[in-house]
Amino acid sequence: MCRHLAYLGPPRDLATLLLDPPHSLLRQSYAPADMRGSGTVNADGFGVGWYPDGVTTPIRYRRAVPIWTDAAFAALARDVRSGAVLAAVRSATVGMPIVDTACAPFATGRWLFSHNGVVAGWPHSVAAPAGRLPVTDLLTLDASTDSALLWALVRHRLAAGASLGGALGAVTAQVQACAPGSRLNLLVTDGTELAATAVHHALAVRVVDGGVLVCSEPTDQSPDWEPVPDCHLLTATPSTVDVAPIPVTTAEEP
Ligand code: GLN
Repeated sequence: MCRHLAYLGPPRDLATLLLDPPHSLLRQSYAPADMRGSGTVNADGFGVGWYPDGVTTPIRYRRAVPIWTDAAFAALARDVRSGAVLAAVRSATVGMPIVDTACAPFATGRWLFSHNGVVAGWPHSVAAPAGRLPVTDLLTLDASTDSALLWALVRHRLAAGASLGGALGAVTAQVQACAPGSRLNLLVTDGTELAATAVHHALAVRVVDGGVLVCSEPTDQSPDWEPVPDCHLLTATPSTVDVAPIPVTTAEEP
């Protein structure tokens, strides 16, 4: 399963966030600790989205190569600073394409999104909710993957006015109902707040010097990391963290 990370807080350079920690996202790409039997490495691509200071539309860098092979990214990561970052390394689910556009983060407007997991019974299990999306949303999916469809479902709710946490909670409930057994660790940010679900996969959160860090696996040995319990929704700003069970009554269509 892919690994993902989000940070909100005082500006930091991308290398400090993603490459330097002892169990960084870079290390999690080739030596993850908690894949729960799904894959062994996250070598099918990576992506990083960040918000430059004072800018509400994020910049993205996505490539379908192992993050450790991209010297250009390692170099730019030392010079790019941001107070809001979402990044992921990918282990493609069997049968899904290995292309730049299948790598998280997915993005529209001010939002960035990532999915760590798999939709059970893809694609037939989710044909019904997919069929209720606008046709153009389906025609413009980034890739023919479960994660890209999940982003279309989440984005549809965000565009209809749902909160970040409300959209993730609703989509996980909706997809679990038609595709039971799915692994649905979702992560979304708008650059000022973030929301993340833990649904049958690992997730941890840590408050750090004026900010918050959320990651599939703790990036270091600090005792400050808190595991997010299964079937829980985390919402956070740089100064607040809230973890609660995913509401079970939010699966209605927007
Ligand atoms: N199923 C998604 C993909 O193929 C995510 C994979 C994962 O979490 N390992 O991109």
